[in-house]
Amino acid sequence: NAEIADVLQQLGIKDSNPAYSTGLSWGGQDGRTTRSIHSPADGNLIASVQMATPEDYDKVVQAAQEAFKVWRKVPAPKRGEVVRQIGNKLREHKEALGKLVSYEMGKILQEGLGEVQEMIDICDFAVGLSRQLHGFTMHSERPEHRMYEQYHPLGVVGIISAFNFPVAVWSWNTMLAVVCGDVTIWKPSEKTPLTAIACQHIIREALMENEIPEGVFNLIIGDAEIGSLMSHDKRIGLVSATGSTRMGKKVGEAVGARLGKSLLELGGNNAIILTENADLKMAMNAIVFGAVGTCGQRCTSTRRLIIHESRYEQVKEHLLKIYPNLPIGHPLDSTTLVGPLIDKDAVTAFTEALEKVQQEGGTLLTGGEVLSGEGYETGTYVKPAIVEAENHFEMVQEETFAPILYLIKYSGDVENAIEIQNGVRQGLSSAIFSTNLLETETFLGHWGSDCGIANVNIGTSGAEIGGAFGGEKETGGGRESGSDAWKVYMRRQTNTINYGRELPLAQGIQFKV
Ligand code: NAD
Repeated sequence: NAEIADVLQQLGIKDSNPAYSTGLSWGGQDGRTTRSIHSPADGNLIASVQMATPEDYDKVVQAAQEAFKVWRKVPAPKRGEVVRQIGNKLREHKEALGKLVSYEMGKILQEGLGEVQEMIDICDFAVGLSRQLHGFTMHSERPEHRMYEQYHPLGVVGIISAFNFPVAVWSWNTMLAVVCGDVTIWKPSEKTPLTAIACQHIIREALMENEIPEGVFNLIIGDAEIGSLMSHDKRIGLVSATGSTRMGKKVGEAVGARLGKSLLELGGNNAIILTENADLKMAMNAIVFGAVGTCGQRCTSTRRLIIHESRYEQVKEHLLKIYPNLPIGHPLDSTTLVGPLIDKDAVTAFTEALEKVQQEGGTLLTGGEVLSGEGYETGTYVKPAIVEAENHFEMVQEETFAPILYLIKYSGDVENAIEIQNGVRQGLSSAIFSTNLLETETFLGHWGSDCGIANVNIGTSGAEIGGAFGGEKETGGGRESGSDAWKVYMRRQTNTINYGRELPLAQGIQFKV
């Protein structure tokens, strides 16, 4: 395919790509295992990558530590200037990188381009932030004393990312960490390493132009083994890990055991509440985008729809008209709205979840088929499913990373719906559709939604970078991207300065030698 060949050439992807990058050079060409990366869209081999060894990992950490000694001395606004240049390079490569995201991961081109736009946006945010890494000043209880706090860089930050947002989540972490003065080591998902290599090429240009060691932004290609090395490594001040709750528990435990810092962004089980007072026309698009967008593979995908009994049949009827006509196909085809799942394991998880939920008493209303025939030869395309279910079903309590929407009926007032919405182990994103202020404010109140994200008359997916992103409970509690999420990438220091000639002690303690 000439279009893909052109994209790969523009982004510097070769047939066989190295295992890691550091010090403005790439390492690991031979003697290592290789992994072939096939597109979930058409099954074609895109390229192969070398997988890093533990020795490679060690080299990368050492390069990062060396680079930190240089980078922490660069003034923050100058660090921001490098990020500004990276943002401009991402603008130049938006089309090509967006296509590669789409082709390697399977999300539709609009979403691939949106992901690159998110990277550009976070670069802009980080540039501004580089002049605002401020702490508070406080009044001291002692005369002629001053107190203030400052934020210093942490050191080496490890970033473990998931396949479904192969580049955006990395940029949220990295762009903030580097303006904070940290250096980063990125271990992308082993399912989507090519977009990561493409990003490294883009960054490298900016670093060379500014004579900055590449050790500030490191990339290492590996699987869970490399992730595990990172989690156990005392040299890594912060491990930011995005992925399943299963993975997050392992990383959290390993980092906790050495009293390191972790930022965990794990699975969601997100719901939209539709009350008696919902504007259905507005809600429909949000529901369908949330449930089938990225083929149900967003951490914020809408998995449960909690509908007031008075609107239940109407909503169901609407959805059953829309779902059979969803255009499912190649993600680079501009008419497609639903692309493939990432691989056949994900298809198995989808079909098994549907079987199990039916055994539990759920009713499959539409979808659930694995598509075959022309254009669907990969076996990774499925028809999004809608199931009538109850919240306590085991499958409804789980996050199945596929397009399954559970319809759940509630009666009475909005507090009953909120109880159902909060009645799962995860706590990432939530939404309510209602034009009634009493309902929406109850949802946002402190006995309302227990999620990190709570939206009104907007769906569960599609967050903006300006807010802090993350969730509670088994979602891991981490926050990244906007607001004051930057503070996790820094260490806080409280300073007290005496500008007098006496040495009074705090709390009035008398101690004379
Ligand atoms: P995954 O857990 O299989 O893998 C994620 C990353 O963790 C990969 O890089 C993988 O190599 C690494 N990893 C796996 N086991 C590890 C271990 N023991 N130690 C260290 N690293 C390990 O997840 P996935 O299938 O790539 O992504 C889907 C999941 O990610 C979903 O649960 C989704 O909800 C979640 N997710 C969450 C967010 C969020 O911000 N909350 C964002 C995107 C995805």
